[in-house]
Amino acid sequence: MTNKEIAKILFQIAEILELKNSSDRFRIVAYEKAAQIVENYPIEMKELYVREGVKSLVEVPGIGQSIAEKIEELLKTGKLKYLTEIEKDVPASQMKFIKVPGIGPKMAIKIATELKAKDIEDLEVKIKSGEADEIFKEKTRNNILRGIEISRKLTGRMLITDALPVAEDFVKRIKEIDGVKDANFVGSLRRMKETIGDIDIVAASSEPKKIINEYIAFPGIIHIVTQGEAKSTIIHRQGCQLDLEIVSEAEYGSLLQHFTGSKEHNVALRTYAQTKGMSVSEHGVKIGEKLHTFKTEKELYNFLGMDFIPPELRENRGEIAAALNHRLPVLVEVSDILGDLHVHSDWSDGNMSISEIALAAEKLNYEYIVISDHTVGLGIANGLDEKRLEERQKEIEIVQKDHPRIKILSSVEVNIKADGSLDIQDWMLEKLDIVTASVHTSFFQEKEVMTDRLIKAISNSHVDIIGHPSGRVIGQREPYLVNWERVFKACSEYKTVLEISSFPNRLDLQDYLCQQAKNLGVKFAINTDAHQAAHLQLMRYGVSVARRGWLEKKDIINTFKLEDLLRWVELREN
Ligand SMILES: [Zn+2]
Ligand SMILES: [Zn+2]
Repeated sequence: MTNKEIAKILFQIAEILELKNSSDRFRIVAYEKAAQIVENYPIEMKELYVREGVKSLVEVPGIGQSIAEKIEELLKTGKLKYLTEIEKDVPASQMKFIKVPGIGPKMAIKIATELKAKDIEDLEVKIKSGEADEIFKEKTRNNILRGIEISRKLTGRMLITDALPVAEDFVKRIKEIDGVKDANFVGSLRRMKETIGDIDIVAASSEPKKIINEYIAFPGIIHIVTQGEAKSTIIHRQGCQLDLEIVSEAEYGSLLQHFTGSKEHNVALRTYAQTKGMSVSEHGVKIGEKLHTFKTEKELYNFLGMDFIPPELRENRGEIAAALNHRLPVLVEVSDILGDLHVHSDWSDGNMSISEIALAAEKLNYEYIVISDHTVGLGIANGLDEKRLEERQKEIEIVQKDHPRIKILSSVEVNIKADGSLDIQDWMLEKLDIVTASVHTSFFQEKEVMTDRLIKAISNSHVDIIGHPSGRVIGQREPYLVNWERVFKACSEYKTVLEISSFPNRLDLQDYLCQQAKNLGVKFAINTDAHQAAHLQLMRYGVSVARRGWLEKKDIINTFKLEDLLRWVELREN
């Protein structure tokens, strides 16, 4: 570990102490000072340390015994228990904000408490929409936006929710260019993986040069990296790289298939073809000396004796055998979803009123919508106690009268406490139409403790759905340690549903776990966990996780008609 790396961690500690509003000003300054000294010290700490251990570290001016011991731990293990410890009770959003260049602890607190931004995406939206105008000066707002842009470029991978709209917009415009026969984005984005590196697009045309010339003039391009005869690489305003390749129409199907991947799927496909005396390449399929080319992927798969394999399944998890035996699942579609079972209203930490939610759900053509506010145990989210829950119920009944076309169901997102019990009384849960239970605290339990905790909630007859089951937040928090097989078996036994959260940085339960759970007989609900109107549109991302997990309409309870959904909930409670 270099001095630079050690300094970075010491700075981080100072920032976190400040975020926690630590009154120990002295300690914060001590870490800041030590960080500065270490960063600029002419001798590497690890060199000093081998001399006389902690003793030689203490000799560096500005480094006391306690910090010297932390440096020792870093040098020995590469990690620091103290850091993990203090990070624990700082809200994840604030931690995320200080990772943006230019945002310090004070500003992070302001962003979280005054502007009430939930994450970096939300912060960006709030600044661009003018919501931050009264909180931050124009100069500060511009600095924050620039910092966000830089941090996006630095992390390298984008969430699918950021990449997909850019890719779809570009593909649409490329298809509109005269002479383009077809175009699509490929790679992990087409397979709908949760994070994406670059955006790759292929297009079919016999006039590649003309297409490239028109393409590089598209709005939204801030930099042209390369411009070849049939290829171009550009940087998009949102900080992502786009690669376009123009191919011949005759080979388009093969190339689309080839570039969509995954590598594992393509290897398995080629290996299978070889057993049949065929050789697959990006240009087509060779039998002997004869090359067969394909305009569409379907023709290619059919030629190999298989059904068309949807891109989301191309991960070499059994799709080739299933395609050969005509046993591929009929994957769930966005249009199958009849309602959202997890929406927060302004009764807890959402910003929509119940009537706004009803209106938005009607626009989405839903049959039902479930108001699922936090319960009281979650102090920070204005959770409901029994009394406010009853008041909310009255409002639901009033709003329902104005919206006969949609059924508004009453629910809560109850907290699963560290011991697996819930934070509101059973008699209250009994009055609700449907109940989601989620873990929001004590994330770092031992595997079997967390497993028992989840199973206790799963076996509670009032709990219908487990919200965001693994608790992971992409780029911020690893999933909890869970014995999934035990959890899935319990869900199957008690008919408790697992949620697939469509929320961009959750996408939880993950696709491969969905597939395992389905095989053990578990059912799912695909929800948005919306806290504002725009979030209701995120459903497609949860659906894509389900599709990657081989799920069909019948596996998802919010594809059920209202009466079937209610009957299902009713039956499982008895
Ligand atoms: Zn939650
Ligand atoms: Zn929620």
